[in-house]
Amino acid sequence: MVTLSDKKALVLGGSRGIGAAIVERLTADGAKTTFTYGSSAEAAEALANKTGAQTLQADSADRNAVSQLIADQGPLDVLVVNAGIGVLGHSLELDPDDVDKMIDINVRGPYHAAVDAARQMPDGGRIVIIGSVNGDRMPFPGGAAYGMTKSAVQGMVRGLARDFGDRNITVNSVQPGPVNTDLNPEDGPMKDTMHSFMAIKRHAQPEEIAGMVAYLVGPEAAIVTGAQHTIDGGFGA
Ligand code: NDP
Repeated sequence: MVTLSDKKALVLGGSRGIGAAIVERLTADGAKTTFTYGSSAEAAEALANKTGAQTLQADSADRNAVSQLIADQGPLDVLVVNAGIGVLGHSLELDPDDVDKMIDINVRGPYHAAVDAARQMPDGGRIVIIGSVNGDRMPFPGGAAYGMTKSAVQGMVRGLARDFGDRNITVNSVQPGPVNTDLNPEDGPMKDTMHSFMAIKRHAQPEEIAGMVAYLVGPEAAIVTGAQHTIDGGFGA
């Protein structure tokens, strides 16, 4: 399907995992795609070679760097903010610096990137932020800070959809449950606990998440905005 053939897309955090699958899908759908990486230069280079996408290094915790990169891109039809980290641990033991870093990357990053991109975005543009079902449900200890960052995504999506609706720019989040990536391998130590909360007891593959993103940035989703799209095997049900 070449549904995005005349579209220009930027994926923040595209070198690995869900972000890499999104880059693969957007390029396959015909979008002229650029993606950022933080520290995985080799993986980014390999993905760029495989897909024909462009890659640039930018730390999503660095507001000025990302802001400048977005300004340099010019008008974007599609922005996907995927970069995110998950540091789990009991709130009494978690390093406060790790909590602040999560807030920087998972909350401040997507908010400022979405606003910066919207400044130049043409009418009908699309903004998608990768949240998590943990924004709705945190069924085990140790996830307070991570869950907080993903709940914050929900609020920003609702509000930004209102701000940009007059330009037909849509703003949505995709909320995965467990997905098989370096962050949450399907054979990792938390596997059985996670699957116990699910109706369909398996990790999703990154491509399944990319399919939902492709729908939201594609021509059929022009009226879909301000919403959280959960894809979690029933984790949050
Ligand atoms: P991975 O750890 O596998 O990949 C994370 C990606 O984000 C990498 O490409 C990484 O790039 C990039 N990234 C992280 N920090 C930065 C940074 N400071 N600057 C630029 N890029 C950065 O994670 P996933 O693919 O699993 O997760 C992607 C998103 O999906 C996250 O927002 C996560 O919270 C969310 N999610 C994941 C779930 C899961 O089960 N896997 C479930 C629910 C939500 P690099 O290596 O180059 O730094």
